[in-house]
Amino acid sequence: MTGFDADGVWLRCALHAHTTNSDGDLPPDKLVRHYAWAGYDVLAITDHWVRTAERSTRETLVIPSVELNAQCGGPEHDAHVLALGVATDPVAPEDAFAPLEEVVAWILENGGVPYLAHTYWSGLRTEQWESCPGLLGIEVWNAGCELEIGRGDSTVHWDEALERGRGFFALATDDSHHPGYDSGFAWTMVRAPEKSQEAVLAALREGSFYGSTGPEIRSVEVDDAAVVVECSPAASVTLVASRARGARANAGRLGYPKDSRILARDDRGLITAVALERPYAVPYGRIEVADERGRRAWTNPLWTATAG
Ligand SMILES: [Zn+2]
Ligand SMILES: [Zn+2]
Repeated sequence: MTGFDADGVWLRCALHAHTTNSDGDLPPDKLVRHYAWAGYDVLAITDHWVRTAERSTRETLVIPSVELNAQCGGPEHDAHVLALGVATDPVAPEDAFAPLEEVVAWILENGGVPYLAHTYWSGLRTEQWESCPGLLGIEVWNAGCELEIGRGDSTVHWDEALERGRGFFALATDDSHHPGYDSGFAWTMVRAPEKSQEAVLAALREGSFYGSTGPEIRSVEVDDAAVVVECSPAASVTLVASRARGARANAGRLGYPKDSRILARDDRGLITAVALERPYAVPYGRIEVADERGRRAWTNPLWTATAG
């Protein structure tokens, strides 16, 4: 399930943001207003080790959440884990953080949805987290990590795990600490039956969403032979499938076609609909759309093999 085959509404969600309850600049009520003005429907406040349960407003559904630390493959590897919608206040350990498996289990026991944050920024290796039971996915893009040190893009980690049959989903987030400077750069479009905490959390568990830093993905249709994508005007649309395999359409006068056929363009020649050939027997496939400014959107895997 990727959201494109589901009924319901699309909700623009900020799923990683900080307030004065940890190291963010704005108090929780002001952050809610900030994201409402920026056109978001849902905000998960994820302060470090403080579960923030600010009141929802008419515009903005607030999901109480927290960002936790975990040991990931040894004490020298500090991982950050988003506990979205968790119902219990966490207690920070007095000395070492717990292993990732224990932190994820605690999140699940307390009704939360666990996603591993900014794997590239954290310097994690895919082998350190891809076997963790109950972990739902990672952040494919973390705007704050990109703005600060150029390590916001975790697509390689995601692809390594998908290639090995792990069906992880991936969020795009701001991880905002200084709203106005580092907010509104990345979001997750959730497809849910309604705007409620329960429905959004269920969609995050099922993969019914896509991440974006700009492009809109309007539809994705998959059959045995091809994937057909409709999107906002794009410079390229890619089927990322596995090593040395895949397909891509590139816009432009001599736009290089790789196993693709452009079905519609806007008046400037940018791609608005495309058919991408589905390679035979690849372990996974996901769609990535890029616009003229290099902003990207990422669907969840359209299919995956079973983990071996
Ligand atoms: Zn973090
Ligand atoms: Zn954070």
